[in-house]
Amino acid sequence: MLIDKDSLTEFARQIFISLGTEEDRAQEIADHLVEANLKGHDSHGVGMIPSYVRSALHDILQINADAELILDKGAVLLVDGNLGFGQVVGRQATDLGIDRVRDTGIVCVGSRNNYHLGRIGTYGERCARAGLVSIHFVNVVGHPPNVSPWGGRDARMLTNPFCCVVPTATDPIVLDMATSAIAYGKVRVAGLKGVPVPDDCLFDAEGMPSNDPGVMNSGGTLGPFGKHKGYGLALMCELLGGGLAGEWTIQDVERHKSPTVNHMMMIIIDPALFGGLERFQREVQGMSDWLHASKPAKGFDKVRLPGEPERESMAERLANGIRIDDQSWETITQSAQLAGVSKADIAVLTA
Ligand code: NAD
Repeated sequence: MLIDKDSLTEFARQIFISLGTEEDRAQEIADHLVEANLKGHDSHGVGMIPSYVRSALHDILQINADAELILDKGAVLLVDGNLGFGQVVGRQATDLGIDRVRDTGIVCVGSRNNYHLGRIGTYGERCARAGLVSIHFVNVVGHPPNVSPWGGRDARMLTNPFCCVVPTATDPIVLDMATSAIAYGKVRVAGLKGVPVPDDCLFDAEGMPSNDPGVMNSGGTLGPFGKHKGYGLALMCELLGGGLAGEWTIQDVERHKSPTVNHMMMIIIDPALFGGLERFQREVQGMSDWLHASKPAKGFDKVRLPGEPERESMAERLANGIRIDDQSWETITQSAQLAGVSKADIAVLTA
């Protein structure tokens, strides 16, 4: 399926409205998901809709819940997402932090109990649009783990994302990444295509490196990125996102059968604290130019900054449309019907 941004957004919006989600929320969730597709992260785009619909129909995902401020200590806020759509309650927690940082210069927001937050960069980009730096430590809980600790043989964590966004005079620098070497969605796609995954991403049940996506069906695990270093960062996401800001970490095996929940610790900094946004942006610009000037290594066309691949993908997909593989599209349209969109409406919406 090749579909343009506006049609895909409207289709997604109608699915959420049919579920009973209020219209402005439905729009926000649809915008967030389609932007993830545009930015090249199909694993966090409209392909999430089937699991969202399932969780809503099982009354796990609270489709019209708002974030609730449960503790206010000036530069520290604790916000409960009440298992509402992460795209809404995560944004609400971010906005509380942005408002507060105007008084305090720095704020740490614990944003707990969010149903899947989607693409974490979205929240950092919102801070950057307000001229702010942000750092996000996020854990993922609710599912059985699929990422092994460095040196371990079995899965003990999920793909805990880390994100740091820095504003510039133009586009922000957006480091936004899973701490696993590869996203599970990419392994699944490789399996369907019958192609191997790159080196250093997967381990079999004996803890031996493997390129075979099939190992995930026989006790294999995703490795952490960057060996012990990525493992260490994943652990910090677990401890700060889940343990300190959130309500639980993944060692609580009793909770492995619940839905995808993200706990996020978000630190937002006003560069004015350290001498002003302009001076900082000059330094950021100088550093960006410095890195861009590096002679490309063999096999590379140029050096990029974090966030640039997403903007390139977005320009291409806005121009040419978003391609969704047949199997994912089939599942999305099935879940649209489960949500209450009629076959006739689906045909019109996706024509
Ligand atoms: P990725 O590996 O594609 O990119 C990671 C980072 O590297 C990005 O900031 C990107 O801009 C940068 N990058 C990529 N190529 C680059 C290059 N050539 N030069 C410089 N920088 C480059 O991303 P990922 O790790 O697969 O994560 C994808 C998305 O999944 C993220 O948006 C993340 O927030 C999301 N995620 C969410 C959850 C959740 O539970 N909500 C869990 C895991 C991941």
